[in-house]
Amino acid sequence: MRTIAILGATGSIGTQALDIVRRYPERFRANCLTAHSASDKLFELVRAFRPDVAALVNPPEHIPEDVRFCHWVFGPDSTVKALLAAKPQDALCAIVGIAGLDAVWTALDVCQRVLLANKEALVTGGDLVMEKAARKGIPMLPVDSEHSAIFQCLQGRQGNPVRRLLLTASGGALRSWKKEAIYNATVKDVLAHPTWNMGGKITVDCASMVNKGLEIIEAHHLFQMPGEKIDVVVHPQSIVHSMVEFEDGAVLAQLGNPDMRGPIGYAMGYPERMPYEARPLDFAALGHLDFAAPDTDRFPALLMAIEALKAGGSAPVILNGANEVAVGAFLKERIPFGRIPEIIRAALDGVPVAPIRSIADVYAADAAARRAARRELGIGNEE
Ligand code: NAD
Ligand code: MG
Repeated sequence: MRTIAILGATGSIGTQALDIVRRYPERFRANCLTAHSASDKLFELVRAFRPDVAALVNPPEHIPEDVRFCHWVFGPDSTVKALLAAKPQDALCAIVGIAGLDAVWTALDVCQRVLLANKEALVTGGDLVMEKAARKGIPMLPVDSEHSAIFQCLQGRQGNPVRRLLLTASGGALRSWKKEAIYNATVKDVLAHPTWNMGGKITVDCASMVNKGLEIIEAHHLFQMPGEKIDVVVHPQSIVHSMVEFEDGAVLAQLGNPDMRGPIGYAMGYPERMPYEARPLDFAALGHLDFAAPDTDRFPALLMAIEALKAGGSAPVILNGANEVAVGAFLKERIPFGRIPEIIRAALDGVPVAPIRSIADVYAADAAARRAARRELGIGNEE
């Protein structure tokens, strides 16, 4: 029996992780559940999973009698406080955005293993987070499907060097759209992801291909690979989850139907593969799998992420912060979709790159990026 904190319990990843906890009650106990503000949903989860500690960033108006048995924490640092109080063996970090960085940092102090979905924590604090994980001997188990695939393929490495990582990309909802149409795509267009059902922010990032850019940076940190050795291949069916190429030209791939409970369960049970009723792959029914090079003319943000990784220091933090502001504005229908890469470009051009030596440096760069992005948007300082 392992105790696990589900940070971001009400989200897409969080609720699917809780499906696995429900499926294996003798193996996992979710002793800590946290969320931002979906209080009714969190109350329901608390009733069902009976954690020791629960947290909400936005305090609710009223806490129902039947969920008062657990210890509640509220406020901006409630996730960190909840982790410190619950001391779980594992933490599944499934908060969206740089808002999850503090939780990942604290999980490395409190837990035996970190299960990482929150890619923005590595994009922004990757060097510091990976250094701390290595120093403390804490495994960082990837939950992002591509990184889980690579992690699984690397089990067959036997000490051999890797020539290249190949990240597959679905291409998002606008994969086959014309450039002018992409610029004016609506929130509804963008949220209609063809293969994955995910939270709003990551679905927008898939459509702009910022997500694949963030994932290159995430892979760089998780697998200590230079950016030049990480390639992206568009694969609309999302069956091949990613690949590793070795020096002899052999390519290992991990395949499966798109279902995040695969990679979430793999991280939760690691190194064991827990039986799970995944829909089996039917190759004859699939008939063919398609692959194409990414189109960086229509999706320019991918190149910006590669550029930011190359520049190093605070450049990935600037890219991420500007993107978070731009995606927020797009989801509120304040800007057309095509403004997202323009806002990232403006922040990368306008904010000087600085070295990152501490988490405080990360937040300083993030704040500067957000200011630049808001200036570009003309929306002042509110969220
Ligand atoms: P989501 O929006 O569905 O859920 C986010 C969760 O985090 C919610 O529980 C929310 O209450 C909480 N949260 C949001 N802002 C917070 C804040 N400021 N402080 C504390 N808690 C906060 O997001 P998601 O799709 O589950 O994605 C979560 C993370 O996992 C993201 O980093 C995403 O890139 C990554 N990821 C998601 C998927 C997927 O299939 N959804 C796949 C791969 C990677
Ligand atoms: Mg992914």
